[in-house]
Amino acid sequence: MRSQSISRLKGCNAKDKPWVTVTLAAVVVAISIVSRPSLAEWLGDSRAMMGTEISVQLWHESAEDGLALVEDAFDEITRIEELMSTYIESSQISEINRAAGEAPVAADEELIQLILRSLDISMLTRGAFDITYDSVGQYYDFRERQRPDAETIEEELKRIDYRLVEVDRLAGTVKFLAPGVRINLGGIAKGYAVERAVSLLRSRGIRHGIVTAGGDSRLLGDRLGQPFMVGIRDPRKDDEVALTIPLEDEAISTSGDYERYFEEDGQRYHHIIEPTTGQPAGDVRSTTIIGPDAVLTDALSTSVFVMGVDQGLRLIATLPDYEGIVIDAVGQMFYSDGLQPPQ
Ligand code: ADP
Ligand code: MG
Repeated sequence: MRSQSISRLKGCNAKDKPWVTVTLAAVVVAISIVSRPSLAEWLGDSRAMMGTEISVQLWHESAEDGLALVEDAFDEITRIEELMSTYIESSQISEINRAAGEAPVAADEELIQLILRSLDISMLTRGAFDITYDSVGQYYDFRERQRPDAETIEEELKRIDYRLVEVDRLAGTVKFLAPGVRINLGGIAKGYAVERAVSLLRSRGIRHGIVTAGGDSRLLGDRLGQPFMVGIRDPRKDDEVALTIPLEDEAISTSGDYERYFEEDGQRYHHIIEPTTGQPAGDVRSTTIIGPDAVLTDALSTSVFVMGVDQGLRLIATLPDYEGIVIDAVGQMFYSDGLQPPQ
């Protein structure tokens, strides 16, 4: 697959050389600096968090003030991880998973809202996106090359159903309508985290920045009069970019079957689960969604991965402001209508 550039039909182009290249799990963001007589500079850091690499980059006149804001953005992401990670025993989501099968569990408004949003997206995607996937998903361990056996899948599959999650908005509680159900926000929380971090930076006066969490990036403004060039990784070549897209003030999320996986008997077992079977979704290698809200681009990239090329791109066509790129099981690329395919 050769690297090519794609753009939205409204069109924009950028031809400068990349100055800083931030190589990330799924996307590659290149920041170009236009030289201008100013002390301002790009500042940032990357850290291992939320099971991936998180990077915060911003443009600021003062290194000291800018780096303090970078720190604030990381603090905000830490706060969200501590609330929403199933890997943290003391998180509210872990408490919900332990106890909501028996009685309603109280949770912060913020977590309740993201769960409600997830349930809405389940309806929008006709169940392709389903946070109860974890009822089976919990038995996969990609590092340890473990997967559930047929009996476990059969037993747990009935617990994958977003309609088993009952939220009482007024009481601020979550309850499961069957014992043994588990929820996991892994398909939406990184988008939420980058969206929140960018909102925080915007509210503190930052006008140019990028926050990336694994395959999810939220761009704040542009890179000083030029669009950011965001690369989509080639799903089968670690260091190669399949496509670059000029973007400003938008979110972009990529889901891939190369992110967390192992192979066994020629079969690839990866982390995006088809809710109707409890098995890794099979028809595509990667999906990328572009749009104004990182929460939705994140959830939709996971959803379209499950839905496949036709159904997935048909869904994207119904959503104004959202575009998608799907790389199928043989490496062919498909684009939603609002994108200008490479010449
Ligand atoms: P990444 O975590 O690499 O950014 P995605 O955004 O595609 O990748 O999210 C994949 C994650 O979403 C999985 O690791 C898992 O936590 C969660 N997930 C897997 N299958 C589903 C599904 N059908 N619906 C909702 N979430 C899912
Ligand atoms: Mg996602």
